[in-house]
Amino acid sequence: MRYGYGGKLLRINLSTDKIESKDLPDKLVKEYIGGRGFTARILYDELKPGIDPLGPDNKVVVASGPLAGLFVPGAGKLTFAAKSPATNSYGDSNVGGMLAAEIKFAGYDTIIIEGQAKKPSYIYINNDKVEIRDAGKHWGKGAITAERALKDELGEEFQIAVIGPAGENRVKFACISHDFGRQAGRTGIGAVLGSKNLKAIAVRGSKSIKLSDPKGLLKLTKQAIADCQKHPAIQMWLNQGTASVTVWSNEQGSFPTRNFQSGYFKDYQKISGDVMQKETIVTNKACFGCPMACGKYARVRKDGKDYYVEGPEYETAALIGGDCAVGNITDLTYANWLCDELGLDTISGGSVAAFAMECFEKGIIGKKDTDGMELKFGDIKSFEWLMNKIARREGIGGVLAEGVKVAAQKFDKGAEKFAMQIKGLEISGYESRKAPAMLLAYMTCDIGAHHNRAWAITHDIAVGRDKIEGKAKRVIELQHIRPLFDMLGCCRLQWVELELSLEYYPKFLKVTTGMDYTFDELLKSSERVWNLTRLFLIRENKDFGRQFDYPPPRVYEEPVQNGPTKGSMVKKEDIDKLLDEYYALRGWDKTGKPTNAKLKELSL
Ligand code: SF4
Repeated sequence: MRYGYGGKLLRINLSTDKIESKDLPDKLVKEYIGGRGFTARILYDELKPGIDPLGPDNKVVVASGPLAGLFVPGAGKLTFAAKSPATNSYGDSNVGGMLAAEIKFAGYDTIIIEGQAKKPSYIYINNDKVEIRDAGKHWGKGAITAERALKDELGEEFQIAVIGPAGENRVKFACISHDFGRQAGRTGIGAVLGSKNLKAIAVRGSKSIKLSDPKGLLKLTKQAIADCQKHPAIQMWLNQGTASVTVWSNEQGSFPTRNFQSGYFKDYQKISGDVMQKETIVTNKACFGCPMACGKYARVRKDGKDYYVEGPEYETAALIGGDCAVGNITDLTYANWLCDELGLDTISGGSVAAFAMECFEKGIIGKKDTDGMELKFGDIKSFEWLMNKIARREGIGGVLAEGVKVAAQKFDKGAEKFAMQIKGLEISGYESRKAPAMLLAYMTCDIGAHHNRAWAITHDIAVGRDKIEGKAKRVIELQHIRPLFDMLGCCRLQWVELELSLEYYPKFLKVTTGMDYTFDELLKSSERVWNLTRLFLIRENKDFGRQFDYPPPRVYEEPVQNGPTKGSMVKKEDIDKLLDEYYALRGWDKTGKPTNAKLKELSL
């Protein structure tokens, strides 16, 4: 018996219909803990280099962690991973809600999905009963609509992961939706499910998770929840969730605006958390076991119709609100709903729309490319038109569905300079020309330019926003601490925002699994995963070098246009200085490759 874990690894081949369940391997558990540790190791070992991310040889690996589904604050996190169609390298994305817990209650920690179904299908898991079922009648439905339909069909107690039309049409920033508004949004794993003809995964579990020390867990949990509840910031999180960051980000000049031309959006007050609290939020939503409940279920009425959606979260406000200049809460909430229903990541979706709007403004594309539609910043009709075209890959939507990197190569005429991506993934919600640590975090993030591996902008503010030297150390620390939560299967926000002590986590692991780790040993495991995903990137790219870590030219050629960071830019030589320091501290060579000594140290 394995304490704390579901205990089984479930493998489902959609080409052959073969389904098998095995015990979790000891070495995998010991060295990789769970969640993204499992997904990275399995994908590195099982995928042949050079495979097509949207072909049958790719695999989607779903993994919870040892703390998921337990009474640990925020213990509802699940990782979806595959070779990403956006970056052509390792990609993963994390989703909250109830699914991680349900998978463990069904007795599994990891599900490996292989092959390609001959017709639209979904995976049905009810404890030990696992089937590949026909999803013909759900194919083509929006993600929210399909989740409702599957729950009506199977029962409210089933937890569902589902894709929308964007995933079916292999849009490279298609997400996976769960719990009517939570998404595994980044790196296009929804498109990989679509390429496998897999509409959904429906899970019901009713087993218990065996614990090493149940009384010890209860005691620790009571303390941890009390610590969270007495923190002064909790009320703000309960009131507004991540939307509370919108005002702060504008005051810092870090709110991406008009395709990152600026870091300040003049209408930010109209899309703030305060406005949501007054006008749109209906109720709070929490992931399994979370006392913070950062999810905000909202309603808006637009053109005579009610739209219900979880959000908009900060990142959606940043990339659709600021970056596309959509400056009112009704339009922004509707845009959030539209992306959720179509199954599009709001971060990349917003960034792609902003890029298209700027291309139109500069005459790089014109009405002949858009069926006569004029694309304008601040115009919800433009946004709506773009998302619908992209999700169905119609006309210019087929080009934009590839993401800004590929679209810029196709449009040419200088568009690559303001295609705001790194490694093929669109940059998330922080303008970082006056935040070198945040910029470095984007440049070196293992899945492309995503904020959640190292939210380093607060470090820039604390130690000096123009300072270059010394920034790499903190970025690396964060890149080990924050992804560790994804390995454990729980949320990082209790630590980040409510200052829950990191000392809790090895103790949680001990009372649940019986495994003894110091926090430093857990960090070493996280560093092992970081280096493994780097090896994946190197293996996939014969021309690999430090150019893979460079930001787009807008960052070092164009100053911020207005707001508190007006005039800021990071010089090209400073970008190299940031990388030199980062590589040296990581034990990587000057081209960004881990040295043999580092790999040996990490048992890789
Ligand atoms: Fe989920 Fe938010 Fe709680 Fe994290 S803080 S577990 S994302 S509800």
